[in-house]
Amino acid sequence: MTDNSDFSKKLKDIHVIVNVSARHVHLSKEDFESLFGIGKSLTKDFDLIQPGEFAAKERLTIAGQKGSIENVRILGPFRNKSQVEISLTDGRNLGIENLEVRISGDLDNTPSIVLIGKKGNIILENGVIAAKRHIHCSLKDAEKLNLKNGQLIWVRFEGEREGVLGGFVTRASGNSVLELHIDTDEANALGVKSGIYGLIADREEYFDNENSFQKDIVETPHLITELFLKKIKKKGMKIKLDKSCILTPMAKDFLKNNPEILRK
Ligand SMILES: [Zn+2]
Repeated sequence: MTDNSDFSKKLKDIHVIVNVSARHVHLSKEDFESLFGIGKSLTKDFDLIQPGEFAAKERLTIAGQKGSIENVRILGPFRNKSQVEISLTDGRNLGIENLEVRISGDLDNTPSIVLIGKKGNIILENGVIAAKRHIHCSLKDAEKLNLKNGQLIWVRFEGEREGVLGGFVTRASGNSVLELHIDTDEANALGVKSGIYGLIADREEYFDNENSFQKDIVETPHLITELFLKKIKKKGMKIKLDKSCILTPMAKDFLKNNPEILRK
């Protein structure tokens, strides 16, 4: 059997709760009043994990050149500037051109969209993004995990559609709670639902250590050749032979000269 324990040790072994962000809208107070009536305010439906953030009961319709989507959640509290977060798939269906993956709040030169509320409509001149995947954490968490605000990290997801995604932006701030946010496209690609755990690993752990990522997928064949053993050696792995393994003569010679690749 090939040995994966070295690989596992290289991961930080930190499991972080994953939540899937469905499409949603953040509104300024002014835009909200244009959509739902002067003097009206958000009604809390339920709290989100991040302190102070909540899902509101109010919903609206968002519309682009090609289509519209009803019943889109509004998240509170109000922000200085309205922002619409949709998946790239939504963007295609709505006909939103030039939709970009952006960090929340980075809205310069982002596309426009029409918002339709109970009491009125507005054209949001810009503010539509596909949210860049990110990890929230407190400053304390960041220190513990050896992460810096803005640092990109890699996260591994287990399951039938197992995979590793890079480019999670670390968003460390005061009292944030450790939580990963991915959108519905990402979640569907990985076959994951809210509430599962992702495993943090930083970039260096995958890429500075040559081939460490592939360690997971090498299988020990029944017939062991010299070529296979050379690959194992190059990857810095060890193998364990059992009675069912057949070695070619050259593989036997290679093992004699390279006994360190055998795991006892
Ligand atoms: Zn988030």
